[in-house]
Amino acid sequence: MKNNAERRIKGIGVSPGIAIGSAFIIEQSGVPVPEYAIPAAQIDKEIKRLHAAIAKVQKHLGQLRLKAEMLPAGAEDMALLLDAYKGMLSGSRLVRGVEEIIAKQKLNAEAAIQKQIAALKSAFAAMNDSYLAARAEDVGEVGTRLIRSLLQQSYNPFAEIPEGCIILAEEITPADAALLPPGRAGGFATVLGGAEGHAAIMARALGIPALSGISALTHGLKTGETVVIDGRAGEIVLHPSAPTLQHYRAELTRKKQEDKRLRTLRDVPAATLDGVAVTLQANMELPRDIDAVLDSGASGVGLLRTEFMFMNRPDLPDEDEQYEVLRKLANKLDGRVLTIRTLDVGGEKLASALGGAAGESVNPALGLRAVRLGLKQPKLLDTQLAASMRASVHGPVRILIPMVSTVAQMKQVRFRMIQIERRLQKRGVKIKGLPPLGAMIEIPCAALTADALAKVCDFFSIGSNDLTQYTLAIDRGDDRVADLYDPFHPAVLRLIQFTAAAGWRANIPVALCGEIAGDRRATALLMGLGLREFSMSPLRLPAVKDEITKFSMPQAVAFGEAILAKTDEDEIRALMQDGIAKKN
Ligand code: PEP
Ligand code: MG
Repeated sequence: MKNNAERRIKGIGVSPGIAIGSAFIIEQSGVPVPEYAIPAAQIDKEIKRLHAAIAKVQKHLGQLRLKAEMLPAGAEDMALLLDAYKGMLSGSRLVRGVEEIIAKQKLNAEAAIQKQIAALKSAFAAMNDSYLAARAEDVGEVGTRLIRSLLQQSYNPFAEIPEGCIILAEEITPADAALLPPGRAGGFATVLGGAEGHAAIMARALGIPALSGISALTHGLKTGETVVIDGRAGEIVLHPSAPTLQHYRAELTRKKQEDKRLRTLRDVPAATLDGVAVTLQANMELPRDIDAVLDSGASGVGLLRTEFMFMNRPDLPDEDEQYEVLRKLANKLDGRVLTIRTLDVGGEKLASALGGAAGESVNPALGLRAVRLGLKQPKLLDTQLAASMRASVHGPVRILIPMVSTVAQMKQVRFRMIQIERRLQKRGVKIKGLPPLGAMIEIPCAALTADALAKVCDFFSIGSNDLTQYTLAIDRGDDRVADLYDPFHPAVLRLIQFTAAAGWRANIPVALCGEIAGDRRATALLMGLGLREFSMSPLRLPAVKDEITKFSMPQAVAFGEAILAKTDEDEIRALMQDGIAKKN
């Protein structure tokens, strides 16, 4: 096969749409390395830090190695190389040398790695052997991976990306995604990451097509060469031929026309054919999303993910800093509701400022995260609650608690809010009563005890992303099990229906803010299951509104019943594919 012949590689489509652009391959190199002295008493700690980084890099290489097994024939070198990298991290000259430099020269681990790499490279170079010269490069690569791991991604790999490029990277973490300059990237494709990981959610929020789970990064491709990403088909096309490019360009034109039509719906009320009103709100990942929220015609923000305030920084934001961010958002929303979700770090969402406090459990998704972390570190939670309560003076604010599993957690949070209100009053800060307090229903136990939780909550918001993950025991960020991740599994749908009914019985609002809220194929079904309130990426909102105007409530109920009568996921998928239009 000619090297530049067209080639299609399958992945998981994590954000729909088509992007044509020049590839920008994120290399592992180019990390600025800090150098500082450490006191003798800190040596053991520094060596432990080194070994924690080694363990992380080994795990990462192991994941890449698994993917490499899916490579086409002829690319076995990649697997061998990854094995070699892993080998260099266990009891090797590299590791021993770094330990020695830390201990003897009392240097930080990053600088010690850099020194040891330089020493090994010059030793290899002195032997004047082309095989060893290549090994020297490998040592450099492993060292850089270690340094990046130690630095916890505190440099911006996207600072210099050209306009409209397609980013190709091994992995894009949520913290990386937050650094993507808005409007600059045309799309991205990664080797690691599942459909509902946070990088995928960010890509959808930015409205850029994205793929994950591609078998290897480059397949001989170079930065600057043309690629096409087809987010719907889950495919990347390398070296596209002229007819292929023509086909995708025509698709892009069609999409633009459809977007133009949808934009005209901005001020049209969201109501079914028979006049049942639906509340459509927006999810926000970053403050910069606010313009898209206002443009979309959303009636407010149904989910403000506050993790952005904690990302890409070594320290924690204090109450005033958080208040300022929230106040600005409340003002911009101009009377529309702002639902502030307290910090949901842990699991795949790591905030480096929290150090080891989150995400280091054996099973991070089941560990100390979200409200569990907040109640164990009350200062963290109280600071957020106080800032949110102060922001409520500037507009209707609601407070949403993630990962709730017990009634006691909600009682404890409300108790803290009452105490904070008193403290604020003492400081002379006035607030107009406590903002409504709600629970994310995203763990099966919360859905199954929704009746009890409804007694201690002012509203619910169903987090279908995590509800699917925990109900099906599928890691939402793992591309290897992504084919089993199915929010329309009958078990998940029954939990959603049960929660909606519990909210209705208790007369509290129930919204759904997981990714299926923005999937127009799901709208009639979810309304049939009893929901009337959705929060989604603002870019998805016009299409969902368009869908709502196309069916009546009795049709939605019949659609919901038809789907719930099925217990076979394939049959459900077939009905979903046909959508309500063909069903009725
Ligand atoms: C969810 O779990 O569905 C949700 C909306 O929260 P997040 O995706 O931030 O976990
Ligand atoms: Mg969640």
